Amino acid sequence: MGFGWILTSDLNLDVKFSGKTSDWSSSTKAEIFAILTCLIICPSNSHVTIFTDSQCAIDTFNSLHHYKMTPRRFQKINNNLLWQAILFIIKRLNLTIKFVKVQAHSGDRYNDMADTLAKAGCDTQDTITISPLAIKTQKGYIVFNDELIIDRNIRKTTKKIINFRNIERQLSHKSLHHIKDFTIDRLINWEYTQDWFNYNPFSKVTSQSYSKHVSWRMKCSNYALPTLDSLNRNYPDILKGFDTCFLCSSAQESNEHFWTCPESIKILKDIFMKHEIIYKAIIMNNLDHNKIDDSNNIIINCPVFSCFNLLITTISDAKDLHCILINMIPSSIIKPFQEAKIPKKLTKKLLLTFLFNLHRDIYEILWKTRNTHWKRYKIDHNITKTSFTKRPSQHYKRRRQNNSDISPNNPDNNNILNIGYTNPFMNSKRNLDDSIFWIYLTSSNFRHNLPWINSLYLDVIDSITYDQNLFYYNI
Ligand SMILES: [Zn+2]
Repeated sequence: MGFGWILTSDLNLDVKFSGKTSDWSSSTKAEIFAILTCLIICPSNSHVTIFTDSQCAIDTFNSLHHYKMTPRRFQKINNNLLWQAILFIIKRLNLTIKFVKVQAHSGDRYNDMADTLAKAGCDTQDTITISPLAIKTQKGYIVFNDELIIDRNIRKTTKKIINFRNIERQLSHKSLHHIKDFTIDRLINWEYTQDWFNYNPFSKVTSQSYSKHVSWRMKCSNYALPTLDSLNRNYPDILKGFDTCFLCSSAQESNEHFWTCPESIKILKDIFMKHEIIYKAIIMNNLDHNKIDDSNNIIINCPVFSCFNLLITTISDAKDLHCILINMIPSSIIKPFQEAKIPKKLTKKLLLTFLFNLHRDIYEILWKTRNTHWKRYKIDHNITKTSFTKRPSQHYKRRRQNNSDISPNNPDNNNILNIGYTNPFMNSKRNLDDSIFWIYLTSSNFRHNLPWINSLYLDVIDSITYDQNLFYYNI
Protein backbone atom coordinates (compact mmCIF):
# COMPACT_ATOMS: atom_id res chain seq x y z
CA MET A 1 0.00 0.00 0.00
CA GLY A 2 1.37 3.41 -0.97
CA PHE A 3 1.91 6.50 1.14
CA GLY A 4 3.11 10.03 0.54
CA TRP A 5 3.82 13.30 2.32
CA ILE A 6 4.82 16.88 1.62
CA LEU A 7 6.90 19.04 3.88
CA THR A 8 5.90 22.67 4.00
CA SER A 9 7.92 25.14 6.04
CA ASP A 10 8.86 28.79 6.24
CA LEU A 11 12.00 27.99 4.32
CA ASN A 12 9.83 27.13 1.35
CA LEU A 13 11.56 23.84 0.77
CA ASP A 14 9.62 21.66 -1.59
CA VAL A 15 10.20 18.27 -0.02
CA LYS A 16 8.00 15.41 -1.12
CA PHE A 17 8.20 11.71 -0.56
CA SER A 18 6.28 8.63 -1.53
CA GLY A 19 6.80 4.97 -0.90
CA LYS A 20 5.15 1.63 -0.47
CA THR A 21 4.70 -0.70 2.50
CA SER A 22 4.50 -4.47 2.42
CA ASP A 23 3.40 -7.32 4.65
CA TRP A 24 0.41 -6.55 6.87
CA SER A 25 -0.83 -3.96 4.49
CA SER A 26 -3.32 -1.50 5.90
CA SER A 27 -4.06 2.17 5.50
CA THR A 28 -2.90 2.80 9.07
CA LYS A 29 0.42 1.12 8.41
CA ALA A 30 0.90 3.37 5.38
CA GLU A 31 0.12 6.40 7.57
CA ILE A 32 2.60 5.32 10.23
CA PHE A 33 5.28 4.86 7.59
CA ALA A 34 4.55 8.33 6.25
CA ILE A 35 4.99 9.79 9.75
CA LEU A 36 8.16 7.77 10.31
CA THR A 37 9.81 8.74 7.03
CA CYS A 38 8.98 12.42 7.36
CA LEU A 39 10.22 12.67 10.95
CA ILE A 40 13.62 11.26 9.93
CA ILE A 41 14.40 14.29 7.79
CA CYS A 42 13.30 16.90 10.34
CA PRO A 43 16.10 19.05 11.78
CA SER A 44 16.89 18.59 15.47
CA ASN A 45 14.88 20.53 18.05
CA SER A 46 12.15 21.46 15.56
CA HIS A 47 8.45 21.81 16.14
CA VAL A 48 6.58 19.56 13.73
CA THR A 49 2.88 19.75 12.93
CA ILE A 50 1.57 16.70 11.13
CA PHE A 51 -1.62 17.08 9.13
CA THR A 52 -3.12 13.66 8.56
CA ASP A 53 -6.51 12.21 7.72
CA SER A 54 -5.90 9.11 9.85
CA GLN A 55 -7.60 9.42 13.23
CA CYS A 56 -6.34 5.94 14.07
CA ALA A 57 -2.70 7.00 13.74
CA ILE A 58 -3.32 10.09 15.92
CA ASP A 59 -5.12 8.07 18.59
CA THR A 60 -2.42 5.42 18.71
CA PHE A 61 0.30 8.07 18.92
CA ASN A 62 -1.47 9.77 21.83
CA SER A 63 -2.04 6.44 23.59
CA LEU A 64 1.71 5.72 23.56
CA HIS A 65 2.23 8.30 26.29
CA HIS A 66 -0.68 7.15 28.41
CA TYR A 67 0.28 6.06 31.92
CA LYS A 68 -1.44 2.72 31.33
CA MET A 69 0.81 1.94 28.36
CA THR A 70 2.98 -0.75 29.89
CA PRO A 71 5.66 -2.55 27.84
CA ARG A 72 3.34 -5.57 27.72
CA ARG A 73 0.48 -3.50 26.29
CA PHE A 74 2.86 -1.83 23.88
CA GLN A 75 3.63 -5.19 22.29
CA LYS A 76 -0.05 -5.63 21.49
CA ILE A 77 -0.28 -2.51 19.36
CA ASN A 78 -0.34 -3.17 15.63
CA ASN A 79 2.94 -2.19 13.94
CA ASN A 80 4.61 -1.74 17.32
CA LEU A 81 8.09 -1.88 15.77
CA LEU A 82 7.27 1.17 13.66
CA TRP A 83 5.93 3.05 16.68
CA GLN A 84 9.09 2.27 18.60
CA ALA A 85 11.14 3.62 15.70
CA ILE A 86 9.04 6.80 15.70
CA LEU A 87 9.52 7.29 19.44
CA PHE A 88 13.25 6.75 18.99
CA ILE A 89 13.48 9.37 16.24
CA ILE A 90 11.47 11.90 18.28
CA LYS A 91 13.74 11.39 21.27
CA ARG A 92 16.98 11.47 19.31
CA LEU A 93 16.09 14.59 17.31
CA ASN A 94 14.30 16.17 20.26
CA LEU A 95 11.21 16.93 18.18
CA THR A 96 7.98 18.44 19.39
CA ILE A 97 5.05 16.83 17.58
CA LYS A 98 1.57 18.16 17.11
CA PHE A 99 -1.12 16.38 15.16
CA VAL A 100 -3.92 18.05 13.21
CA LYS A 101 -6.70 15.94 11.79
CA VAL A 102 -7.86 16.89 8.31
CA GLN A 103 -10.94 15.54 6.63
CA ALA A 104 -10.00 13.07 3.89
CA HIS A 105 -11.00 13.99 0.33
CA SER A 106 -12.40 17.31 1.50
CA GLY A 107 -10.56 19.46 -1.00
CA ASP A 108 -7.63 20.24 1.30
CA ARG A 109 -4.88 21.12 -1.17
CA TYR A 110 -1.97 19.46 0.61
CA ASN A 111 -4.01 16.42 1.63
CA ASP A 112 -5.01 15.85 -1.99
CA MET A 113 -1.37 16.23 -3.04
CA ALA A 114 -0.35 13.66 -0.45
CA ASP A 115 -3.05 11.33 -1.78
CA THR A 116 -1.63 11.68 -5.30
CA LEU A 117 1.83 10.91 -3.95
CA ALA A 118 0.48 7.85 -2.13
CA LYS A 119 -1.02 6.59 -5.37
CA ALA A 120 2.31 7.14 -7.09
CA GLY A 121 3.99 5.25 -4.23
CA CYS A 122 1.78 2.28 -5.01
CA ASP A 123 3.29 2.00 -8.47
CA THR A 124 6.90 1.90 -7.32
CA GLN A 125 8.73 -1.42 -7.35
CA ASP A 126 10.53 -1.23 -4.02
CA THR A 127 8.90 -1.51 -0.66
CA ILE A 128 10.15 0.15 2.49
CA THR A 129 10.76 -1.99 5.54
CA ILE A 130 12.62 -1.42 8.76
CA SER A 131 15.08 -3.77 10.37
CA PRO A 132 13.97 -4.86 13.85
CA LEU A 133 17.63 -5.32 14.80
CA ALA A 134 18.10 -1.57 14.74
CA ILE A 135 15.38 -1.04 17.33
CA LYS A 136 17.17 -1.36 20.61
CA THR A 137 14.04 -1.12 22.75
CA GLN A 138 12.72 -4.35 21.23
CA LYS A 139 14.44 -7.26 22.91
CA GLY A 140 13.02 -9.98 20.69
CA TYR A 141 10.42 -10.73 18.10
CA ILE A 142 8.57 -13.67 16.60
CA VAL A 143 9.00 -14.55 12.96
CA PHE A 144 6.39 -16.59 11.14
CA ASN A 145 7.52 -18.97 8.42
CA ASP A 146 11.04 -17.55 8.56
CA GLU A 147 9.94 -14.46 6.71
CA LEU A 148 7.31 -12.44 8.48
CA ILE A 149 7.85 -10.53 11.70
CA ILE A 150 4.76 -10.45 13.87
CA ASP A 151 4.72 -6.91 15.23
CA ARG A 152 1.24 -7.04 16.69
CA ASN A 153 -0.83 -8.95 19.24
CA ILE A 154 0.83 -12.37 19.14
CA ARG A 155 -2.06 -14.25 20.69
CA LYS A 156 -4.64 -12.81 18.33
CA THR A 157 -2.42 -13.52 15.35
CA THR A 158 -1.81 -17.11 16.43
CA LYS A 159 -5.50 -17.57 17.09
CA LYS A 160 -6.33 -16.41 13.60
CA ILE A 161 -3.93 -18.88 12.03
CA ILE A 162 -5.35 -21.68 14.14
CA ASN A 163 -8.92 -20.64 13.33
CA PHE A 164 -8.12 -20.83 9.65
CA ARG A 165 -6.65 -24.26 10.18
CA ASN A 166 -9.68 -25.44 12.09
CA ILE A 167 -12.17 -24.34 9.51
CA GLU A 168 -10.02 -25.90 6.80
CA ARG A 169 -10.06 -29.20 8.63
CA GLN A 170 -13.78 -28.98 9.22
CA LEU A 171 -14.68 -28.13 5.64
CA SER A 172 -12.28 -30.71 4.22
CA HIS A 173 -14.08 -33.53 5.98
CA LYS A 174 -15.75 -35.78 3.44
CA SER A 175 -19.00 -36.18 5.37
CA LEU A 176 -19.44 -32.41 5.54
CA HIS A 177 -19.33 -31.80 1.82
CA HIS A 178 -22.78 -30.21 1.88
CA ILE A 179 -21.55 -27.52 4.26
CA LYS A 180 -18.63 -26.89 1.97
CA ASP A 181 -20.96 -26.58 -1.02
CA PHE A 182 -23.25 -24.23 0.90
CA THR A 183 -20.24 -22.10 1.82
CA ILE A 184 -19.06 -21.95 -1.78
CA ASP A 185 -22.57 -20.91 -2.80
CA ARG A 186 -22.39 -18.30 -0.03
CA LEU A 187 -25.60 -19.48 1.57
CA ILE A 188 -24.29 -19.58 5.12
CA ASN A 189 -23.78 -16.52 7.25
CA TRP A 190 -20.89 -17.66 9.41
CA GLU A 191 -21.07 -14.73 11.80
CA TYR A 192 -24.63 -15.54 12.80
CA THR A 193 -23.86 -19.25 12.77
CA GLN A 194 -21.08 -18.70 15.28
CA ASP A 195 -23.41 -16.64 17.45
CA TRP A 196 -26.00 -19.37 17.25
CA PHE A 197 -23.52 -22.00 18.41
CA ASN A 198 -22.56 -19.84 21.37
CA TYR A 199 -26.12 -18.85 22.19
CA ASN A 200 -27.29 -19.76 25.68
CA PRO A 201 -30.94 -18.88 26.34
CA PHE A 202 -30.92 -20.54 29.74
CA SER A 203 -30.45 -18.59 32.94
CA LYS A 204 -27.32 -20.43 34.01
CA VAL A 205 -23.96 -20.45 32.26
CA THR A 206 -23.92 -24.24 32.39
CA SER A 207 -26.93 -26.47 32.77
CA GLN A 208 -28.16 -29.85 31.65
CA SER A 209 -30.71 -28.29 29.30
CA TYR A 210 -28.03 -26.13 27.72
CA SER A 211 -25.66 -29.07 27.22
CA LYS A 212 -28.47 -31.05 25.67
CA HIS A 213 -29.27 -28.25 23.26
CA VAL A 214 -25.65 -27.65 22.32
CA SER A 215 -25.27 -31.36 21.71
CA TRP A 216 -28.25 -31.20 19.33
CA ARG A 217 -26.68 -28.29 17.44
CA MET A 218 -23.34 -30.09 17.19
CA LYS A 219 -24.78 -33.41 16.10
CA CYS A 220 -27.00 -31.81 13.46
CA SER A 221 -24.20 -29.69 12.05
CA ASN A 222 -21.74 -32.58 11.86
CA TYR A 223 -24.24 -35.06 10.45
CA ALA A 224 -23.65 -37.05 13.60
CA LEU A 225 -27.20 -37.78 14.82
CA PRO A 226 -27.32 -41.43 15.93
CA THR A 227 -29.26 -42.65 12.91
CA LEU A 228 -29.40 -46.33 12.01
CA ASP A 229 -26.64 -46.21 9.42
CA SER A 230 -24.09 -45.04 11.97
CA LEU A 231 -25.49 -47.33 14.68
CA ASN A 232 -25.01 -50.25 12.27
CA ARG A 233 -21.48 -49.17 11.64
CA ASN A 234 -20.68 -48.90 15.36
CA TYR A 235 -22.78 -51.81 16.68
CA PRO A 236 -23.18 -54.31 13.82
CA ASP A 237 -23.80 -57.17 16.25
CA ILE A 238 -26.76 -55.39 17.88
CA LEU A 239 -28.47 -53.87 14.86
CA LYS A 240 -27.81 -56.87 12.61
CA GLY A 241 -28.19 -54.83 9.47
CA PHE A 242 -31.55 -53.26 10.33
CA ASP A 243 -31.42 -49.75 8.90
CA THR A 244 -34.88 -48.97 7.53
CA CYS A 245 -36.16 -45.46 8.23
CA PHE A 246 -38.73 -45.54 11.05
CA LEU A 247 -40.79 -42.78 9.52
CA CYS A 248 -41.22 -43.87 5.89
CA SER A 249 -40.25 -47.55 6.22
CA SER A 250 -38.74 -47.56 2.77
CA ALA A 251 -35.29 -45.98 2.68
CA GLN A 252 -32.10 -46.41 4.68
CA GLU A 253 -32.04 -44.11 7.67
CA SER A 254 -29.11 -41.75 7.54
CA ASN A 255 -28.57 -38.18 8.66
CA GLU A 256 -29.17 -36.97 5.15
CA HIS A 257 -32.29 -39.08 4.67
CA PHE A 258 -33.65 -37.98 8.03
CA TRP A 259 -33.93 -34.39 6.83
CA THR A 260 -35.34 -35.26 3.41
CA CYS A 261 -37.57 -38.22 4.28
CA PRO A 262 -41.10 -37.51 2.95
CA GLU A 263 -42.56 -38.18 6.41
CA SER A 264 -40.06 -35.80 8.03
CA ILE A 265 -40.95 -33.14 5.49
CA LYS A 266 -44.64 -33.49 6.43
CA ILE A 267 -43.86 -32.93 10.11
CA LEU A 268 -41.40 -30.15 9.29
CA LYS A 269 -43.95 -28.42 7.09
CA ASP A 270 -46.36 -28.04 10.03
CA ILE A 271 -43.57 -26.77 12.29
CA PHE A 272 -42.32 -24.29 9.71
CA MET A 273 -45.83 -23.04 8.87
CA LYS A 274 -46.38 -22.24 12.54
CA HIS A 275 -43.02 -20.49 12.82
CA GLU A 276 -43.43 -18.58 9.57
CA ILE A 277 -46.30 -16.68 11.20
CA ILE A 278 -44.11 -15.94 14.23
CA TYR A 279 -41.19 -14.96 12.00
CA LYS A 280 -43.30 -12.48 10.02
CA ALA A 281 -44.83 -11.06 13.20
CA ILE A 282 -41.33 -10.47 14.67
CA ILE A 283 -40.27 -8.50 11.61
CA MET A 284 -43.49 -6.49 11.36
CA ASN A 285 -43.40 -5.61 15.07
CA ASN A 286 -39.81 -4.44 14.96
CA LEU A 287 -39.42 -2.72 11.62
CA ASP A 288 -38.13 0.80 11.64
CA HIS A 289 -41.09 3.06 10.80
CA ASN A 290 -38.82 6.08 10.45
CA LYS A 291 -36.93 4.49 7.60
CA ILE A 292 -39.80 2.66 5.92
CA ASP A 293 -42.55 4.77 4.39
CA ASP A 294 -45.28 2.22 4.06
CA SER A 295 -45.04 -0.94 6.12
CA ASN A 296 -47.94 -2.45 4.18
CA ASN A 297 -45.71 -2.70 1.14
CA ILE A 298 -43.24 -4.98 2.89
CA ILE A 299 -43.25 -8.47 1.48
CA ILE A 300 -41.46 -10.96 3.66
CA ASN A 301 -40.25 -13.76 1.50
CA CYS A 302 -37.86 -16.29 2.92
CA PRO A 303 -36.99 -19.50 1.04
CA VAL A 304 -36.70 -21.36 4.34
CA PHE A 305 -40.49 -21.24 4.54
CA SER A 306 -41.53 -20.88 0.91
CA CYS A 307 -39.63 -24.03 -0.13
CA PHE A 308 -42.44 -26.11 1.36
CA ASN A 309 -44.70 -24.99 -1.48
CA LEU A 310 -42.73 -27.26 -3.79
CA LEU A 311 -41.93 -30.93 -3.54
CA ILE A 312 -38.75 -31.58 -1.57
CA THR A 313 -37.01 -34.86 -2.29
CA THR A 314 -33.33 -34.00 -2.03
CA ILE A 315 -31.17 -31.44 -0.28
CA SER A 316 -30.71 -29.47 -3.48
CA ASP A 317 -34.48 -28.82 -3.60
CA ALA A 318 -34.28 -26.65 -0.50
CA LYS A 319 -30.73 -25.65 0.37
CA ASP A 320 -31.71 -22.83 2.70
CA LEU A 321 -34.02 -25.10 4.65
CA HIS A 322 -31.30 -27.70 4.83
CA CYS A 323 -28.87 -25.11 6.19
CA ILE A 324 -31.18 -24.27 9.02
CA LEU A 325 -31.92 -27.91 9.80
CA ILE A 326 -28.23 -28.63 10.24
CA ASN A 327 -27.98 -25.54 12.47
CA MET A 328 -26.17 -23.33 9.99
CA ILE A 329 -27.76 -19.93 9.59
CA PRO A 330 -28.61 -19.10 5.98
CA SER A 331 -28.17 -15.49 4.87
CA SER A 332 -31.67 -15.57 3.39
CA ILE A 333 -33.27 -15.69 6.84
CA ILE A 334 -31.43 -12.50 7.84
CA LYS A 335 -32.25 -10.59 4.67
CA PRO A 336 -35.88 -9.69 5.57
CA PHE A 337 -34.59 -8.19 8.84
CA GLN A 338 -32.19 -6.03 6.86
CA GLU A 339 -34.96 -4.99 4.47
CA ALA A 340 -37.11 -3.98 7.44
CA LYS A 341 -34.15 -1.82 8.60
CA ILE A 342 -33.96 -3.61 11.93
CA PRO A 343 -30.59 -2.86 13.58
CA LYS A 344 -28.07 -5.69 13.54
CA LYS A 345 -27.90 -6.03 17.31
CA LEU A 346 -31.65 -6.34 17.62
CA THR A 347 -31.78 -8.70 14.61
CA LYS A 348 -29.36 -11.05 16.35
CA LYS A 349 -31.34 -10.99 19.57
CA LEU A 350 -34.66 -11.61 17.83
CA LEU A 351 -33.33 -14.20 15.41
CA LEU A 352 -31.51 -16.26 18.03
CA THR A 353 -34.63 -16.45 20.21
CA PHE A 354 -36.67 -17.37 17.14
CA LEU A 355 -34.20 -20.09 16.12
CA PHE A 356 -34.16 -21.50 19.62
CA ASN A 357 -37.94 -21.90 19.62
CA LEU A 358 -37.89 -23.35 16.12
CA HIS A 359 -35.22 -25.92 16.96
CA ARG A 360 -36.95 -26.84 20.18
CA ASP A 361 -40.00 -27.75 18.13
CA ILE A 362 -37.93 -29.69 15.59
CA TYR A 363 -36.30 -31.58 18.41
CA GLU A 364 -39.46 -32.18 20.42
CA ILE A 365 -41.74 -33.05 17.52
CA LEU A 366 -39.60 -34.59 14.79
CA TRP A 367 -36.63 -36.17 16.57
CA LYS A 368 -38.71 -37.42 19.49
CA THR A 369 -41.23 -39.02 17.09
CA ARG A 370 -38.36 -40.89 15.50
CA ASN A 371 -37.02 -41.81 18.91
CA THR A 372 -40.36 -43.24 20.04
CA HIS A 373 -40.12 -45.71 17.16
CA TRP A 374 -36.53 -46.48 18.01
CA LYS A 375 -37.40 -47.13 21.66
CA ARG A 376 -40.22 -49.47 20.63
CA TYR A 377 -37.86 -51.31 18.30
CA LYS A 378 -35.37 -51.74 21.15
CA ILE A 379 -38.06 -53.18 23.45
CA ASP A 380 -39.31 -55.54 20.69
CA HIS A 381 -35.78 -56.78 20.03
CA ASN A 382 -34.72 -56.95 23.63
CA ILE A 383 -32.04 -54.32 23.21
CA THR A 384 -31.20 -52.57 26.45
CA LYS A 385 -28.72 -49.98 27.52
CA THR A 386 -26.31 -52.70 28.63
CA SER A 387 -26.38 -54.21 25.12
CA PHE A 388 -24.44 -51.16 24.03
CA THR A 389 -22.13 -50.92 26.99
CA LYS A 390 -21.33 -54.54 27.81
CA ARG A 391 -20.09 -55.82 24.53
CA PRO A 392 -17.15 -58.05 23.80
CA SER A 393 -14.18 -55.83 23.31
CA GLN A 394 -13.34 -55.24 19.73
CA HIS A 395 -10.12 -54.00 18.40
CA TYR A 396 -10.42 -51.71 15.50
CA LYS A 397 -7.42 -50.96 13.44
CA ARG A 398 -7.17 -47.27 12.99
CA ARG A 399 -7.04 -46.42 9.39
CA ARG A 400 -4.08 -44.19 9.00
CA GLN A 401 -2.49 -43.36 5.74
CA ASN A 402 1.13 -44.19 5.68
CA ASN A 403 2.07 -41.11 3.79
CA SER A 404 5.50 -39.78 4.44
CA ASP A 405 5.79 -37.55 1.39
CA ILE A 406 4.27 -34.22 2.40
CA SER A 407 5.65 -32.26 -0.53
CA PRO A 408 3.24 -30.38 -2.80
CA ASN A 409 4.22 -32.65 -5.68
CA ASN A 410 2.34 -35.49 -4.10
CA PRO A 411 -1.28 -35.15 -5.27
CA ASP A 412 -2.50 -36.89 -2.10
CA ASN A 413 -1.47 -33.84 -0.15
CA ASN A 414 -4.08 -31.60 -1.70
CA ASN A 415 -6.26 -32.37 1.24
CA ILE A 416 -5.06 -31.06 4.56
CA LEU A 417 -6.54 -34.08 6.33
CA ASN A 418 -3.85 -36.23 4.78
CA ILE A 419 -1.23 -34.21 6.55
CA GLY A 420 -2.94 -34.08 9.92
CA TYR A 421 -2.33 -31.45 12.53
CA THR A 422 0.78 -29.42 12.15
CA ASN A 423 1.89 -26.65 14.40
CA PRO A 424 0.97 -23.43 12.61
CA PHE A 425 4.34 -21.98 13.51
CA MET A 426 6.23 -24.78 11.88
CA ASN A 427 8.36 -23.74 9.00
CA SER A 428 6.39 -25.74 6.51
CA LYS A 429 4.24 -24.65 3.66
CA ARG A 430 1.19 -26.55 2.63
CA ASN A 431 -1.35 -27.05 -0.08
CA LEU A 432 -4.91 -26.02 0.20
CA ASP A 433 -7.96 -27.39 -1.48
CA ASP A 434 -8.82 -25.01 -4.35
CA SER A 435 -12.42 -24.63 -3.26
CA ILE A 436 -11.48 -23.74 0.34
CA PHE A 437 -9.03 -21.22 -1.03
CA TRP A 438 -11.82 -19.74 -3.07
CA ILE A 439 -14.02 -19.51 0.04
CA TYR A 440 -11.32 -17.53 1.81
CA LEU A 441 -10.73 -15.18 -1.06
CA THR A 442 -14.39 -14.36 -1.37
CA SER A 443 -15.36 -14.26 2.27
CA SER A 444 -12.57 -12.84 4.39
CA ASN A 445 -10.33 -9.84 4.39
CA PHE A 446 -7.31 -11.98 3.67
CA ARG A 447 -5.01 -8.96 3.42
CA HIS A 448 -5.00 -8.80 7.20
CA ASN A 449 -4.17 -12.47 7.58
CA LEU A 450 -0.73 -12.57 6.12
CA PRO A 451 0.72 -15.44 8.16
CA TRP A 452 -1.99 -17.68 6.88
CA ILE A 453 -1.53 -16.68 3.27
CA ASN A 454 2.25 -16.95 3.64
CA SER A 455 1.94 -20.52 4.78
CA LEU A 456 0.36 -21.66 1.53
CA TYR A 457 1.86 -23.01 -1.61
CA LEU A 458 0.17 -20.50 -3.82
CA ASP A 459 1.85 -21.65 -7.00
CA VAL A 460 -0.11 -24.92 -6.98
CA ILE A 461 -3.22 -23.03 -8.00
CA ASP A 462 -2.48 -22.40 -11.64
CA SER A 463 -5.44 -20.18 -12.32
CA ILE A 464 -4.60 -17.73 -9.57
CA THR A 465 -1.65 -15.40 -9.52
CA TYR A 466 -0.77 -13.62 -6.33
CA ASP A 467 1.04 -10.33 -6.23
CA GLN A 468 2.27 -9.73 -2.72
CA ASN A 469 3.09 -6.11 -3.39
CA LEU A 470 -0.23 -5.14 -4.84
CA PHE A 471 -2.27 -7.33 -2.52
CA TYR A 472 -4.82 -8.50 -4.92
CA TYR A 473 -5.51 -11.67 -6.77
CA ASN A 474 -5.99 -12.09 -10.47
CA ILE A 475 -8.38 -14.93 -10.94
ZN1 LIG B 1 -37.69 -42.01 5.70
